[in-house]
Amino acid sequence: MRKVIFLDRDGTINVEKSYLHKWEDFEFEINAVEGLKKLKEMGYEFIVVTNQSGIARGYYSEEDLVKLNNEMTKKLKEFGIDILECFYCPHHPEKGIGKYKVDCNCRKPNPGMLLEGIEKYGVDIENSFMIGDKKGDLEAGKKAGLKSILVLTGYGKKVEEEIRGKYAVAKDLLDVANILKK
Ligand SMILES: [Mg+2]
Ligand SMILES: [Zn+2]
Repeated sequence: MRKVIFLDRDGTINVEKSYLHKWEDFEFEINAVEGLKKLKEMGYEFIVVTNQSGIARGYYSEEDLVKLNNEMTKKLKEFGIDILECFYCPHHPEKGIGKYKVDCNCRKPNPGMLLEGIEKYGVDIENSFMIGDKKGDLEAGKKAGLKSILVLTGYGKKVEEEIRGKYAVAKDLLDVANILKK
């Protein structure tokens, strides 16, 4: 069974920019690549789980999103880091247009994307984690039976106080690696 780190994307892997959808605007978060390298050395594999309501709202298309994720995956591969799969939720229960206006099970804090990843890749949930910068990430992880860790990049600092004592907190992805090493 595989030890997997489930990763939120915006604010966790890359710098949070409202409704990012162009590769030219993509910037890795501080210590993200270094952290992923270290986690890989520790035997973890990676799955990305990202809410993309910008699709539901009509700001960009699923094609745009897949293209951006592919660029990111390619860049990470150059650093020796493989992503098993990028799952995304294109829905929004209220703001969605047409077929995207769905109260789905994949939009975090719902655990749909994580459960799909766990099933598809035979994930060892006892030794796997969900990492993100929002409360919804942490809750989705918990609902899927994983331990969740907040990173203080992205929106992390804003939610730190609220979740302290309930979830583990790390400065960034490199700090996640350091914490899991202990
Ligand atoms: Mg995020
Ligand atoms: Zn969804």
